[in-house]
Amino acid sequence: MNDKHPKTEKTLVIIKPDGIQRTLVGEIIGRYERMGLKLVGLKMAVPTAEHVEKHYSLDPNWKRLVGEKAIASYEKKGQEPPSRDPIEVGDRVIDGLKKYFTSGPVIAMVWQGAHAVEIIRKVTGGTEPRSSDVGTIRGDFVLDSYQMADTDGRAVRNLIHASGSIEEANAEIAHWFDEKEVLNYRLVQEAIMYDVNIDGIWE
Ligand code: ADP
Ligand code: MG
Repeated sequence: MNDKHPKTEKTLVIIKPDGIQRTLVGEIIGRYERMGLKLVGLKMAVPTAEHVEKHYSLDPNWKRLVGEKAIASYEKKGQEPPSRDPIEVGDRVIDGLKKYFTSGPVIAMVWQGAHAVEIIRKVTGGTEPRSSDVGTIRGDFVLDSYQMADTDGRAVRNLIHASGSIEEANAEIAHWFDEKEVLNYRLVQEAIMYDVNIDGIWE
């Protein structure tokens, strides 16, 4: 099989501790399954703070970007952000994320399929549940906000982590899974989504 074919794209999803505590594991997995994506890796664990810090440091720009995104969201609502320094905001977010991710078990998964990164992000919804679209997992099942997180000095609780780009996905999958833990197998339903010739339906 051609390794570059879009159907081989993989992405990392983590059901965060609130997703497990809200008993949404089946719902979340079902949302991705019904898109036609294939689950190729899965584990449950309580990550260490170091593992979480490394996860969010894989992209050296992440801290600044997360800070800029939070500041822009306050500005959009006509409110003054708690800080105008994106790195300072990023540092606070990473501290909150370490507490959040280590507060209980998480489920890490690798999902595969055409445009897996983009499709999973679309179904998952935007970072802030308050403003994420209705119909997405974050938009339908949780109500947290930047304002709530800042008021209480914690990370935004949004049930799920999903890789933001193919590069991020590749680095994150390698951070959470050994190569042998990501399985290479065929789902019967892939024939109807990906095979060039559809035959074998009629008896
Ligand atoms: P996403 O998870 O949608 O890719 P980011 O990579 O920007 O979002 O941020 C990672 C996680 O950090 C978010 O899912 C959320 O849990 C938390 N987070 C992001 N921005 C903030 C913020 N301004 N305040 C508190 N927590 C935040
Ligand atoms: Mg992200």
